[in-house]
Amino acid sequence: MEIKKAEFITSAVNAGGYPQDGLPHIAMVGKSNVGKSSLINALTRQNKLARVSGEPGKTRLVNFFLINESFYLVDLPGYGFARVSKVEKKSWGDMMNEYFRKAVSLNCIIMIVDIRHNPTAEDKQMAEWIKYYQIPVILVASKADKLGKTRIKPQVAQLRKLLGFSNQVPVIPSSVVSKQGLELLMEQLDAYLPELDSPII
Ligand code: GDP
Repeated sequence: MEIKKAEFITSAVNAGGYPQDGLPHIAMVGKSNVGKSSLINALTRQNKLARVSGEPGKTRLVNFFLINESFYLVDLPGYGFARVSKVEKKSWGDMMNEYFRKAVSLNCIIMIVDIRHNPTAEDKQMAEWIKYYQIPVILVASKADKLGKTRIKPQVAQLRKLLGFSNQVPVIPSSVVSKQGLELLMEQLDAYLPELDSPII
């Protein structure tokens, strides 16, 4: 699949604010600063569609980007901020739970982890959530340009193992700097968007 058109539609705090047109969702989730916004911008080839954070912790909403007028790329709020209150953590958790329960057309979730680091407790919790809700998942291991080539393969296996994902779960090393993995990710997404066989524009 090739992204030909990408536009920001809306931000929502709860299900009342989600688009109601029944189009499929592909959601993205990851720790704050993992490179989620950069990945959205690289995939859509728009520099400023998602805000690359100088200020981690600012994006606390569910953002909807309409792609090719056919599906939503859903930017879920990042987690793992060092300095957030219990109240903020709870409101993040409530927002995520609400999304997982109410987004009936969630076809696939892209979970992003930094390839250089083992998953945090919050990453592991997110993986458990994804398994609990039985959401098809693609794991993206970001910032692959920062890791020596020979270390990529073992680290991919390690991430899969530590997050408890089966061999069926694709793990894609990616980089917005070298563009590694971006095309592969788009190809993998095709499997979750069967109705996109014929491009609209
Ligand atoms: P977000 O908080 O997950 O949305 O992360 P951002 O997209 O704002 O990125 C956080 C930081 O990581 C920024 O300084 C980016 O320039 C940097 N970054 C993102 N992706 C990559 C990558 O693939 N390679 C490298 N080297 N840096 C990246």
